[in-house]
Amino acid sequence: MSRVWLPASLQQFAAGAEELNLEGESVQEVLNALADSYPDLAKNLLNEKGQLRHFVNLYKGDQDIRALQGVETPLAENDELSIVPGIAGGVDTLLPAQLGSIIPPERAEASELTNDEILRYSRHLILPEVTLEGQKKLRAAKVLLIGTGGLGSPLALYLAAAGVGTLGLVDFDVVDYTNLQRQIVHGTKDVGRPKILSARETIADINPNVQVIPFEEKFSSDNAMRIAKDFDILIDGTDNFPTRYLTNDVAVLLGKPNVYGSIFRFEGQSTVFWAEKGPCYRCLYPEPPPPGMVPSCAEGGVLGVLPGIVGCIQAVEAIKLILGLGQPLLGRLLLFNALKMQFRELKLRKDPNCPICGNNPTITDLIDYEEFCGIRGEEADAAPVQESEEITVRELKARMDRGDDITVVDVREPYEYAIARIPGTMLIPLGQIGERSGELNPNAEIILHCRSGKRSADALHILKRKGFKNLKNVVGGILAWSDEVDPSVPKY
Ligand code: ZN
Repeated sequence: MSRVWLPASLQQFAAGAEELNLEGESVQEVLNALADSYPDLAKNLLNEKGQLRHFVNLYKGDQDIRALQGVETPLAENDELSIVPGIAGGVDTLLPAQLGSIIPPERAEASELTNDEILRYSRHLILPEVTLEGQKKLRAAKVLLIGTGGLGSPLALYLAAAGVGTLGLVDFDVVDYTNLQRQIVHGTKDVGRPKILSARETIADINPNVQVIPFEEKFSSDNAMRIAKDFDILIDGTDNFPTRYLTNDVAVLLGKPNVYGSIFRFEGQSTVFWAEKGPCYRCLYPEPPPPGMVPSCAEGGVLGVLPGIVGCIQAVEAIKLILGLGQPLLGRLLLFNALKMQFRELKLRKDPNCPICGNNPTITDLIDYEEFCGIRGEEADAAPVQESEEITVRELKARMDRGDDITVVDVREPYEYAIARIPGTMLIPLGQIGERSGELNPNAEIILHCRSGKRSADALHILKRKGFKNLKNVVGGILAWSDEVDPSVPKY
């Protein structure tokens, strides 16, 4: 019996299980057992030929099975197999015993501390591993934070407090009320204001010696090289695949380290990508998961404290690179599980076939990342809801008040229904709408709603394929209902 660990994004395909116990004397036999017991999960892991998909990788203990005997790798009783989306096989990272500081000595030397700064950083200065010399390196360092959200918040706060001399901030978002649960660089008074402004003010309050360079623009192929070129370290605090690949490619092309962090529900990951010395993000994830397979934080939810922990790990790694101290997380992927309060570590390998940092790179310039991640493709695939199939919340209210013979189906999850609901609706979550369509009368008029109108549009197409003809989608979902019909219904 082997224990198979599932990442959070795949647990939904195994009835929420985090680990599975499966019989098999080799990886292949365990995969066969998995396919028999969990066909939906297998669909995400294996292609039509039963081979592992490119964005999936398997680890026996902390070893990539591709560095062992692939799917023929034997498994003994109690061996642990981890499923980690997308880690390519390759050569081990060669770590020099001492990496040295990323800051050129002459730049650090030229960076003088005032008496105020000497007092402020005294707990660093009396740390034998840092001293005045190290503090000057921090003062000379230029770090670019891509994103000032969940991860960017603790990063900005701690790097500023530690005395990193120049912080670049890239963000074009405004502070939303739902951000405050985790994005602690922003306050309640900042709701509606640009995140860049709010973060800049907080940093100035914590440490006025820090020079903040704001970039209030969307990090894109058009501006990324210009923005990143003068910084020593890039820190990935983004929450979407296109920006992650963009950040990686910019870092690889400019030869800079990319301190990576990601969060999902109760789980986090961190590592340092640096193509000159180890793997890059594309060695880890050669291709993005299909759109929709891994939900964003907005869709999936995240424990508010989690980005605090992962962002702080990123801050430590950035400071180590600046000071040239210790062993960086190069070639190691740190996995954190808040529920188990457990850290695990997997070895990452540089992929000789990596399309950007491998021996024969095919990517030599920035590309269209939205297209690469299938974002546009996904939108094109989703059949649009025709205007005749739409209904506004005001019309819906009028029809409910008139007592029309309609069935209103809420396709959200039960925990969302518990937060806010439209009275007189029937709850069938999107994931069950296909199998539970028998509960609905195909001749009745069925009106579908969700939070914002997207999931209910998907439900409409599912029911249409099942032969339902009289269907409508509520435009703007329960958020619009709260705005236009009943403000006592809370928004979330
Ligand atoms: Zn690479």
